[in-house]
Amino acid sequence: SLKDRFEKVFTSLRGKGKLTEEDVKLALREVRLALLEADVNYKVVKDFVERVRQRATGQEVLSSITPAQQVYAIVFEELLDLMGREVKPLSISPKPPTVYMMVGLQGSGKTTTAAKIALKMKRSHRPMLVACDLRRPAAVEQLRVLASTVGVPFVGPEEGETDPIRVARRALERCSETLVDLVIVDTAGRFQIDQELMQEVQDLKGAVNPHEVLLVVDSMTGQEAVSVASAFNDRLGLTGVVLTKLDGDARGGAALAIRAVTGTPVRLAGLGEKVDDLEVFDPNKMAQRILGMGDVMGLLERVQQATSEEDVERLSESIKRNRFTLEDMLIQLRQVQKMGPLEKVIEMLPIPGVSKALKDANVDPKRIKHMEAIILSMTPRERRNPEIIKGSRRRRIAQGSGTSVQMVNQLLHQYEQMKDLMKAFGKGPKRGFKVPPGL
Ligand code: GDP
Ligand code: MG
Repeated sequence: SLKDRFEKVFTSLRGKGKLTEEDVKLALREVRLALLEADVNYKVVKDFVERVRQRATGQEVLSSITPAQQVYAIVFEELLDLMGREVKPLSISPKPPTVYMMVGLQGSGKTTTAAKIALKMKRSHRPMLVACDLRRPAAVEQLRVLASTVGVPFVGPEEGETDPIRVARRALERCSETLVDLVIVDTAGRFQIDQELMQEVQDLKGAVNPHEVLLVVDSMTGQEAVSVASAFNDRLGLTGVVLTKLDGDARGGAALAIRAVTGTPVRLAGLGEKVDDLEVFDPNKMAQRILGMGDVMGLLERVQQATSEEDVERLSESIKRNRFTLEDMLIQLRQVQKMGPLEKVIEMLPIPGVSKALKDANVDPKRIKHMEAIILSMTPRERRNPEIIKGSRRRRIAQGSGTSVQMVNQLLHQYEQMKDLMKAFGKGPKRGFKVPPGL
C-alpha cells in the first residue's frame, strides 16, 4: 500500500548521518512509485514529485534526524496542498428546502451515503430521502428500508412511474406540509458513464436545483475515479466528492488526485456499510493515513529532544577527522539512555556504525550505566587518548567506577570496534551537509 511504501522511504532515510543527493533521488523515486502504485494519475504524480524535489533541494540538514523529518514535512505539506487543507462540511441553503443530489456510478455507494447523510443531518434538520433511481425496483426498495432505519420520511415512485423528475417534484411539493427542510435525492448510476445517464441526471439537476451535487466515488477505483469525476464535473458542476469504502484497503489514489484534477474537494468519507459510518473528510487525517507516520513522528521528536544539535555536530566533526574518542562514545551512550526502549531507538542513532555496534554488543540499560560510569572515571586526557590506558590506570578506573578490570577491558574493546566502524563510515562515499541543488 501507499502507506507501506512511504514507511519504507522514511525508514531508509532514518539513521542516515546526512541526506545526500543519492538519498533524495532514492526517496523521490520511492514516492513516485508509491503514488503510481496507488493509482494516482500520472500527471499529478509528476507534478507532486517535482514540487517535493524543489522544496527538499538545497535545504540545510543539521542532524541526521532532520532529513527524515524534513522530507516527511515536505511530503505532508504537499499532500495537503493536493487534497486541499479545508475541512468542508455540507452546507445549507439560505432558502429552504436545501437539496442535495447524489450522483455516481452504480455500486459506488450513492444510496447508502444518502441515508448516512440523512442520519447525520437529522440532528439539526428535518431531512427526507427521495428515490430517483427508477431503473431498478430494488434500488427504490433499498432506500425505503434505509429511510425507515434512520427514521426519516421517504418519497418514491408511484405504481408504474418511470420519470425521476416527477418523483423529485412531488417530493419538493411535500416539503412544507411535512416540515422537511432538507431533500436528499438518490439517482441512477451505470457501471460506465454514458450519454443517456448523463442526460438523465442533468435534466434532474435542472428540475431540483440542488445546493450540493455530490459525486460518490468508490475509493478502490483509483485512477479511473479521476476520469469519472472529470466527466461528471463537466456535465453537472460538482460541489463535492464523497469517497466511500475507505474502511477497506483502498489504495487512496482517488483521494489524492480528484481535487487536483477536477478542483472539487472531497467533502465526506464513507467508512463502512452501517448508516453511521460517515465522516467529514479531513485532509490532515488522510495525509497521516497515507504516510502512516503517526508513531514515527513521536519517536523522531524524542530523538530530537535527546540529541542536541551541538552533540551531533561534534560527532560529525569527529568522524570527519577520523577522531572518535571515548568522549564521543559517552555522548552516544547518553543519547541511548535518554531515549528509552532500546530496540526501537538503536537504529535511529545518527551514526549507523554506532547503532550497529551497540546492537551487536547487545547492550542492556544496566550495562550502559556501567559503561558510562567507566568513561566518567577516566581523566579527560585518558578519554581523548585511550591508548595511554594501561594496567594500573585500568585498575584505578575499575575501582572508581565500581566495576571490574574485566569490564573496563570490555569497554575499551568495544570502543576500538566502534572506532573502526566510524572509520569505515567516515570514508564512505556519502558526504555533504546540504542537499545539492539541481537534482
Ligand atoms: P449505489 O449503487 O451507488 O447506490 O451503491 P450502494 O449504496 O447500493 O452501495 C453498494 C455497496 O457498497 C453496498 O453493499 C454498500 O453496503 C456498500 N458500501 C457503501 N458505502 C460503503 C462504505 O463506506 N464502506 C463499505 N465497506 N461498504 C460500503
Ligand atoms: Mg443505489
